[in-house]
Amino acid sequence: MSIEVVDNAATDALASDRQVVKDHLAGIGRHSDLTPEQEQALKAQIKQMLIERDAVLVAHYYTDPIIQSLAEETGGCVSDSLEMARFGRDHPASTLIVAGVKFMGETAKILTPHKRVLMPTLEATCSLDIGCPADEFSDFCDQYPDRTVVVYANTSAAVKARADWVVTSSIALDVVDYLDKKGEKILWAPDKHLGAYVQKQTGADVLLWDGACIVHEEFKAQGIEDLKTLYPEAAVLVHPESPQSVVELADVVGSTSQLINAAQTLPNQEFIVATDQGIFFKMQQLCPEKTFHVAPTAGSGASCRSCANCPWMALNELENLANVFERDDNEIFVDAELAKQAMKPLDRMLAFKKG
Ligand code: SF4
Repeated sequence: MSIEVVDNAATDALASDRQVVKDHLAGIGRHSDLTPEQEQALKAQIKQMLIERDAVLVAHYYTDPIIQSLAEETGGCVSDSLEMARFGRDHPASTLIVAGVKFMGETAKILTPHKRVLMPTLEATCSLDIGCPADEFSDFCDQYPDRTVVVYANTSAAVKARADWVVTSSIALDVVDYLDKKGEKILWAPDKHLGAYVQKQTGADVLLWDGACIVHEEFKAQGIEDLKTLYPEAAVLVHPESPQSVVELADVVGSTSQLINAAQTLPNQEFIVATDQGIFFKMQQLCPEKTFHVAPTAGSGASCRSCANCPWMALNELENLANVFERDDNEIFVDAELAKQAMKPLDRMLAFKKG
């Protein structure tokens, strides 16, 4: 895997960005202090465990490359949250091991209540989920009974249960456009940046909940512009959880799957990518001849809390994956009534077809 980090500073601020990114890239693909031999031993142990326990590994694009490659090598899947949900639902294994963040495990459990759903750690959550408590959100919805409630997949089961629709970033535009054409007004939660992007693209009447992803919110337009002066031929790929000023610089705005597709189909040989750096594993795998640059996260005067590396996704490691069956603190349970309610908007999402 090769990820190029800027080698020439356009500004002092950019130099500082580069160091932060380099520090993070130095850690990508590594697991605490494991030696290569220990990694191999753990991988072999996990492969055996998956066979013996009739389990399949379902991993998100933002997890560590070694987790992603393990999922692929063992017949599991690496994808965005929508495809993770579909894959887990349709796979015959009796246990799903979800490497991602907690809402992904909950979604898997809601869709397949008869299966056991385990996660390497239940501490892996998401700032969007945390920032949208179910009781406050329900009160908010109650204030606007005339609006159709559309929530992003990055929410708890309880928030989904309060919604009319669940969407992922890959179908958010199409769903809101569909609802707008039916004359419906939207209440959107929790990501304000994605919601604003969807509103702008569709022209729909959208009321936004005030939530954000701590990873994407750190991308800085000035840093990307500086990087563009160094790599003028590079296409800019941006996830719509990023601020509007960053989205406006994009050649392609899209979900993780859509950005990976753009990396494959655009003629450019270089890309500046504004999303979690875990995605570089798949991009580089599919486009080994192309070069990918991490979009700067800490522009002038900003503090970087995430640096293009979700701290919760990073909690998925070989060690906690290897003992996933041995513990009693990592199984996903969802209250049956809540699951029944949450299933309705999830079903709408899975059945939705662009008109
Ligand atoms: S990258 Fe952002 S949206 Fe995705 S899990 Fe992490 S905090 Fe949540």
